[in-house]
Amino acid sequence: MLEAQDLSKTYGTHVALHGLNLHVPAGEVFCLLGANGAGKSTTIKLFLGLIRPTSGGVRINGLDPAAQPAKSKSLIGYIPEQVALYPRLSGLENLQYFASLAGGSELNRQRLWDALLKAGLPEDAIDRRVANYSKGMRQKVVIALAIVRRVKALLLDEPTSGLDPQAAHEFSKLLVLLSEEGVAVLMASHDLYHARESATQIGIMRQGVLVETFPAADVSHAELEYRALRSMERNVVQRMT
Ligand code: ATP
Repeated sequence: MLEAQDLSKTYGTHVALHGLNLHVPAGEVFCLLGANGAGKSTTIKLFLGLIRPTSGGVRINGLDPAAQPAKSKSLIGYIPEQVALYPRLSGLENLQYFASLAGGSELNRQRLWDALLKAGLPEDAIDRRVANYSKGMRQKVVIALAIVRRVKALLLDEPTSGLDPQAAHEFSKLLVLLSEEGVAVLMASHDLYHARESATQIGIMRQGVLVETFPAADVSHAELEYRALRSMERNVVQRMT
């Protein structure tokens, strides 16, 4: 569903991403870990078509986002670290508005309501203004949008940052639910605990290179922490030498 082939991105002389090869099939949750500046957000932005690769390319369900931007964008949902909604509108009204922008069909109130419930928004919050929503609740509105749009792939950048443990746990469960329905999920994170909780595959990036990939189920929390820290220590050593 999501594929990167020899994907590289250079800013001036700085190589942000170097020769990334990645495949996230339907139903997989692939989590990119790595130190600040490792190239995780760059990877997400390249899939979103927000920036163009210096070489190599990405495919979304076989489509090149540069050649077929509208069609490839219609297949993906994006959840940024900070979700921006209209504070004076309710959760349901925000969903209605963004779904209509995305050209959604079947935008009747019941369908939107059901999507918000499925995303885990408390029923008594659905008609309330989002001004008083927590970060976790705002994220649920965007997840509901992905549900309504029936996206095939979901891209997320540090989705659990700033969530309390209960909200982060709920979020992880939601990602698993969507992946079980066939959505391909690619996320960048620093949250080792929830990476292991929700991911099927974990990739560790260092200085623009995907240095290792392994099934999340193959490592304990302690082992994952060890591997992630080891990659960051090498970062420090390489910068100092
Ligand atoms: P973080 O965990 O801090 O979000 P990251 O792994 O997502 O980090 P990226 O944001 O992908 O890292 O950045 C990779 C490298 O590219 C960094 O060295 C960053 O400074 C650089 N970079 C990113 N965007 C730009 C830009 N627009 N211009 C110049 N350099 C950039």
